[in-house]
Amino acid sequence: MEKEITNIKTIISREALNELPDFLKNNLNISHPTLICDENTFKAGREVLTRLERERISLKVCMLKCKEICKADETSVGSLLLDIDIKADCLIALGTGTITDLTRILAYKLSLPFVSIPTGTSADAFASSVSPVFINNIKKTLQAKMPEAIFADTTILKNAPKRVNAAGFGDFLSKGIPKTDWYISNIVNNESINNKSLKIIQQPLNRCIKKINELGAFHEETIKTLMDGLIVSGFSIALAGSSRPASGSEHQISHFIEYNINLGKTSFFFHGETVALGAYIMTSIYNNLFSLSYNDFHNLLVSKNKKKEIKESREEIFSRVFDADSKGIIDNWKKNRSNRKRMEKLVKLLSVNWKYLQKTVKNNIFDIDQFRDLMNKSGVPFDPIKMGFSPTEISDMIICAKEMNNKYTLLNLLDELNLLDYFAIQLTRNLLTFSEPQ
Ligand SMILES: [Zn+2]
Repeated sequence: MEKEITNIKTIISREALNELPDFLKNNLNISHPTLICDENTFKAGREVLTRLERERISLKVCMLKCKEICKADETSVGSLLLDIDIKADCLIALGTGTITDLTRILAYKLSLPFVSIPTGTSADAFASSVSPVFINNIKKTLQAKMPEAIFADTTILKNAPKRVNAAGFGDFLSKGIPKTDWYISNIVNNESINNKSLKIIQQPLNRCIKKINELGAFHEETIKTLMDGLIVSGFSIALAGSSRPASGSEHQISHFIEYNINLGKTSFFFHGETVALGAYIMTSIYNNLFSLSYNDFHNLLVSKNKKKEIKESREEIFSRVFDADSKGIIDNWKKNRSNRKRMEKLVKLLSVNWKYLQKTVKNNIFDIDQFRDLMNKSGVPFDPIKMGFSPTEISDMIICAKEMNNKYTLLNLLDELNLLDYFAIQLTRNLLTFSEPQ
């Protein structure tokens, strides 16, 4: 499948590493490869060193040292950059999301080819052309480089910690949400859609769900379909020229939680776990909203727009949550407020397209029981209450997440309609009820 989209050589099998030395020598014609890893991924992928030494390819190892968890941020980029030899002619990313994101950006800045060797299926970073990196604590998606090849050894992947692989299911199984968010922006803002980039994700997604149900999530075959899906997800980003097909409102919530993790306000979760949480919230909101008939939706809209207390409370929320970063966020939010004309336009567009949107939601968003079942089978946490978040923190996620980037998602639409606070309260209440011990 990948041949039509990109020239990246992709091997996902037990024998994947067999072809690595040959590829480095003959296809890339390199003599000074540099391996980028951290302490854990170095242990997991020792086999790579053995293979290359056997072929007399000497390797410089740049090991990222982190106090607890390695982060893709300006400090990590800087420390790796200082460690990379001036003679380096190729980078090899041995790791999962963080290491691959860091290598990709270094390869881009240094104009070097890079090869990806995944050590777990934690996120969809392997074939991407962009790198999410924390700069001043805010996750920015930067232009980066796609790998020349991906050698995914399924034995290494299968032996990765369960939590690492489970996180990947959280990231990949949520792909119906970015798709639906994009359709919403298409209707509301006339944003053009790259259908091919969406289409290529659908098949691996269906295959992955089937394997989870048939063989269980941690079977080597299922992990293989997951890795395939995570790689295709990267291709879809390259094809669309933006992360639109793979990252929507569920990722906005994830970025918001990661922002708080980075500031030390929230305990650590893997990227795929925060995406699963975001996907759970968005799956609930999508189902709640589009289960309403257009008339019921319109009545809700009218009743919630009679009260005018939102502006004040929103500024307070942003000041409390974003603290030193809040000024720019408040200004931006004010700038994007809908006026009466825009509101009329939105209402008209929604009335005409309500049935179509209901159908799109039905086709792309899991119903909530299906979602819980699939995530439970995948072993990824997704319920914010069970993950230790307070009702206020959950409500903050829903209200603040869309400020993390400039994509237009369902969260933006609800905010423009003055319904975001209502859904935040409703949903937090529902989650509390659902998570009560039975
Ligand atoms: Zn992701």
